[in-house]
Amino acid sequence: MKIKCPYCGVRDQGEFSYEGDATIKRPQTDDADAWREYVYSRNNPRGPHKELWSHIAGCRAWIVVERNTLTHEVYNSYLPGENKDD
Ligand SMILES: [Zn+2]
Repeated sequence: MKIKCPYCGVRDQGEFSYEGDATIKRPQTDDADAWREYVYSRNNPRGPHKELWSHIAGCRAWIVVERNTLTHEVYNSYLPGENKDD
């Protein structure tokens, strides 16, 4: 699998580290159930998904990677905060 780093260009996936689900939002409340869900609950999506990766063998930037978890096709990659839909 190849991932495009916004700073370094297209690189092999071995240069990156998976850091987690990019769709999870930090709760804006003190509700314990919302925080429990935020900290401990994760989905295992099948198909298109947004993930956080870091370029650990390169510039060390964190990036959002949109990819298909079944086919490993990478659709898009960008710096966190660049996409207004996130
Ligand atoms: Zn990089």
